[in-house]
Amino acid sequence: MNSSSINIPQQNTNIPRKNKALFLDRDGVINHDPGDYTKSLEEFHILPTIMDKMKTWYEAGYKIIIITNQGGIAKGLYPGTEVDAIHQYLQGRCIAEGFEITDFYYCPHHPEYSGKCFCRKPGSLLIEKAIHKYAIDPELSVMFGDRERDVQCAQGAGVRGIQIPTNGEILSVGEFLQGYSPS
Ligand SMILES: [Mg+2]
Ligand SMILES: [Zn+2]
Repeated sequence: MNSSSINIPQQNTNIPRKNKALFLDRDGVINHDPGDYTKSLEEFHILPTIMDKMKTWYEAGYKIIIITNQGGIAKGLYPGTEVDAIHQYLQGRCIAEGFEITDFYYCPHHPEYSGKCFCRKPGSLLIEKAIHKYAIDPELSVMFGDRERDVQCAQGAGVRGIQIPTNGEILSVGEFLQGYSPS
């Protein structure tokens, strides 16, 4: 009779989170925000330095994840399929530059049109979802956005949030790490 031990599979609820991520708002950070919604691919104009900046983070091992409010969907200004088309186009541009965006998360709701939701920034649900899906360590990660609500969204998930001017520039990873190093 064998006395071999039986291995009972156990669900590990303490999977170490060791990935780092660059979370980015979209409108006013990646593409030019004219102050209204970006309703179509024709209106999607990538800002001058963002591709190079994103690539520095990618090459430093950060997952790049977009977190964007698209309340224009709830308002009926454009369909979710147009948002998907914009994101596919952006991903194609990134791949052509030698890097990729890991995932895109958007909130299609608007409180005045579709009621309250938990995913719209400043809520943290979308960033929390990404953190779980990709085993991201919030403390190793950063989010750039052009609104106070982007910073609040990040902070709600334990991520450092940095506000930049609308249509301004994010930091490269080198600038970021230099700016926050002890020396
Ligand atoms: Mg924005
Ligand atoms: Zn939502």
